[in-house]
Formats: sequence, C-alpha cells, structure tokens
Amino acid sequence: MTKTIAIIGSGFSSLAASCYLSQQGNKVTIFEKNPTIGGRARQFTKDGFTFDMGPSWYWMPDVFERFFQDFDKKSSDYYELVKLNPAYRVYFGINDFISIYDNLEEIKSTFEEIEKGSAKKLEDFINQAKSNYDIAIKDLVYRPGISPLELITKETALKLNQFLGNVSADIRRKFKNEKLIQILEFPVLFLGAKPTKTPSFYNFMNYADFGLGTWHPKTGMFDVIRGLEKLALELGVTIKTNSPIEKIIVEDKTAKGIIINGEIINADIILSGADYQHTETLLEKEHRVYSDKYWQSRVFAPSSLLFFVGFNKKIENISHHALFFDTDFNQHAVDIYDKPKWPVSPLFYANFPSKTDLTAAPEGMETGFFLIPLAPGIEDNEELREEYFEKIITRFEQLTQQKIKNNIVFKKSFCKNDFVTDYNAYKGNAYGMANTLLQTAFLRPKLKSKKVRNLYFTGQLTVPGPGVPPALISGKLAAELIQKSLRS
Ligand SMILES: Cc1cc2nc3c(=O)[nH]c(=O)nc-3n(C[C@H](O)[C@H](O)[C@H](O)COP(=O)(O)OP(=O)(O)OC[C@H]3O[C@@H](n4cnc5c(N)ncnc54)[C@H](O)[C@@H]3O)c2cc1C
Repeated sequence: MTKTIAIIGSGFSSLAASCYLSQQGNKVTIFEKNPTIGGRARQFTKDGFTFDMGPSWYWMPDVFERFFQDFDKKSSDYYELVKLNPAYRVYFGINDFISIYDNLEEIKSTFEEIEKGSAKKLEDFINQAKSNYDIAIKDLVYRPGISPLELITKETALKLNQFLGNVSADIRRKFKNEKLIQILEFPVLFLGAKPTKTPSFYNFMNYADFGLGTWHPKTGMFDVIRGLEKLALELGVTIKTNSPIEKIIVEDKTAKGIIINGEIINADIILSGADYQHTETLLEKEHRVYSDKYWQSRVFAPSSLLFFVGFNKKIENISHHALFFDTDFNQHAVDIYDKPKWPVSPLFYANFPSKTDLTAAPEGMETGFFLIPLAPGIEDNEELREEYFEKIITRFEQLTQQKIKNNIVFKKSFCKNDFVTDYNAYKGNAYGMANTLLQTAFLRPKLKSKKVRNLYFTGQLTVPGPGVPPALISGKLAAELIQKSLRS
C-alpha cells in the first residue's frame, strides 16, 4: 500500500533515500530548510566563479555506480567524470612537494625515489587495503548497524587484529620517511578521527586513494547532487525548499507529521537526513533516544574554516587538489581532538576546480577553495577567520612562490557558526560523527528510532559514517529498513 513519506533535508543521504522509497511505490516529499538543495554539498556562483561548498574529492566511484545500478542507470546518464592526474599534490616546504599520480605504478616509483625499498612495501600495503576494501565497501557497510553480529563474517574473523591496531602504527611500522607517512595517513582523515584512533582495518581508504583514484565530476561535485535530483524527480519525488521543519508531531509513540512554518503536514513515515542530534530536538524530550550527555561524549569529526575565493589571474605551481602539510600534522590533530583550540600552525587544504573545469571561473581567472579543519564547538568570529586567512594565504604565497593577495576579487568565509545556522550541525561539525572503533557500525546512532514508531534517520551521523559514498549507502539502508517494516 502506498505510504506518504516526509523526508527532512536534501543532502546526499536524503536524496538517495528518496529515490529508493519512491521506487518502492511510496509518495515521497523532501523538505529542505535552505533555499537550495544538496546540504553540505551545496554550490553557489558569484561573478562567474562557481564554488562547491563542501565535498570536492570524488572517491570510491564504484559506490556511486552501485547506487545508480539500483535504478538501472549509470552515473554517466547524469554526469561526466574526469580522472585527475595528478590526483593531488602534497606541499611540505618551498618548492618541496610530492605529486600523487593516477596509477599505482607511478605512485610506487615516487615512493621508491623518496625511500629505498618502499615501493614493494607500498604494493603489499595496498594489496591488504584492497582486501579490506572488498570486505568493507562491497559488503559490511551495506549492513544496517542493528547487531554486532553483522560484523562477524568468515573474512572479518581472520582480520580481528586489524580492529585492535591503528592505521598510524601500521604505517609507521612499514615506512620511515615522515612525508610518505603523512601521505598514507591522510585518507583516513575523511573518517573524521586521528589516524592513531582509527582501526587498521580502515586502511581500505588507502586503496580508495591509490587504487581507485580521484575523480572530478565535469562541472563540480554539485553535478552529482543535480544527478540525484533528476533521478528523484524522474521517480516521482517532490522536493520543497525553504521548508524548515519546526517540530515532529508524535501521538501514541508514533510519528504523525511535521510542522513547517506553522503548517501541519501529515505523513505515515518520517525520515530525517538532518543532523541526528538536531532532529531529536524537534521531538518532545520524552521521545528522544539520545541525551545531551551522549552527544557530548561522542567524538565528532572536525568543523572547518572555509574560504571561497575568486582570483583575477591564473594561479601557478598548483594542482587541482593541494594539501599543505608543511606544519606539524600531530600538533594540529591535538588542537582538534585533544585540547581544542585554534591551531597555531594549521595544516590546510586547497582546491582549484578551474584547473580542470574552465567553466568554474571567468576566462583567465581561478576559483579557489581553502579549508582548515578545526575542533567542533570552537569559538568563531570574523577576526579569527581573517587572522587565519592571512596566515594560510601568506604561506600559500611562500610555498608556491607567487603573489596572489592583490588578485583576490571575491572572498567569502564559512565556519563553525555557519554550519550551525545553515545545517543545524551539532557543534558546527562539518563531517558528522567520527568512525572510531567505538563509533562504528552497530555502535553508531540507530537508523530507526527506538522510542517513536515510523521515525527513521539517515546521514553521516548514522551508519556507515561521514563522506559522500557513505551518505548514499546510508540512504539505501534507511529505505530498506522502512521497506522491511512496511512488509511486516
Ligand atoms: C567542507 C566539507 C568538505 C567535505 N569534503 C568531502 C569530500 O571531499 N568527499 C566526501 O566524500 N565527503 C566530503 N565531505 C562530507 C560530505 O559532504 C558529507 O558527509 C555529506 O554530504 C553529508 O550528507 P548528509 O545527507 O548526511 O547531510 P547534509 O548534507 O548535511 O544534509 C542535511 C540536510 O538537512 C537540512 N536540514 C537541517 N535541519 C533541517 C530542518 N529542521 N528542516 C529541514 N531541513 C533541515 C540541511 O539544511 C541539509 O540540507 C565534506 C563535507 C564538508 C562540510
């Protein structure tokens, strides 16, 4: 029987879930508080410069294909992908950088030049990472996090020790060169925790990086949001923007509807892709499963200070993605996770999509995105933002040997307070809740409310965790649970 389903939010997880739920024959409406869709993956254009506001690394292309295959489609039916080469560059000092190319053979040569004997070690490491990828991404992450038994398979039983060790220790046992170590530790940062706190098993992220490569949707990550929107509309989903949910109506321990701008909208089932903690504040206290204490005790992924910058000239000596690891990686991690404060010498990341996509900036100009990871819940004000912009742009000029400050024709910042205002993000987190050992799979907030019937959750605070591919998977898992409960 057709059910009316209201979905809160229009991020990747909500859009993905909407497609599955509509395919199952339900009447699905997405309600997004902001004027545009995409959530943390929104895009804006100003004076001819186009900025993706969040994700920029298109990793794990197989997960996107698997999503589209569920609808007898391919990603290429909706957007075009370009494989980046180099995938990215990592800067360690003035004229001192390492380029990561788009195939393992070249990456091995790069490693060997820097540390003798490391090519073979890298090959072994990536083989192991691939084996974990095959177990995790092709299977485990598609389980709904209901029971610990989901994690116990023939394959994982053989890898038990990899849940006890950590990625950083493994890498340091194999490699000695600090630069290579930092490059290998970088991919797990996407999971939101320190490499020393991330189980060894998660080295599958290194296979995602070196084995599967870094891709770029032709006119930006927002192409994927547009693709999902198109698919959702084709499947009959309705999408309403400027629709902030103020309350979830519960009667008799059952979700009955939502209130938007004072108007009651009834629904048989409610699924929220908005941040979990925020969604529970839309319920009366007695219907909330997780307490303030619970949220405070979780390890959240970092917040971020972002700058969207338009330059009136081309930037030299830079690749599409660039990581600036010329300062102390470990100290910055301490400033995020252990003793939260604004970092003295921040690491930062920059991307220049107009290096790949000429439509991203006016002719002869460049679109730049800068990101400094910060502790969630940190103080945020204009002065601090400016101070840090000055710090990183000065370093950028030194490291890439050029002057660019006077070529800025557009600049907009986005930081913790904006994550709270724009997305209702707990403590202004950028990437949800970290994937540490104690916050993995069945230990994450549940997809189905334990207190309110017909209320479900999806998104980066649930399973499997932070990132765009996990958000797509999360949408599928939530839709499957809903479908299962409708059948029973
Ligand atoms: C700066 C940044 C860089 C990133 N880089 C990468 C990357 O390179 N690669 C990668 O894979 N991932 C990256 N990520 C992570 C990735 O973007 C997220 O994991 C993913 O987009 C989260 O999707 P979601 O559906 O869980 O949540 P969201 O995208 O946050 O969607 C939640 C939606 O709910 C809406 N909402 C909130 N409250 C309400 C309400 N009361 N009523 C109605 N709507 C509401 C919000 O406005 C939002 O649209 C990045 C994230 C950020 C912020």
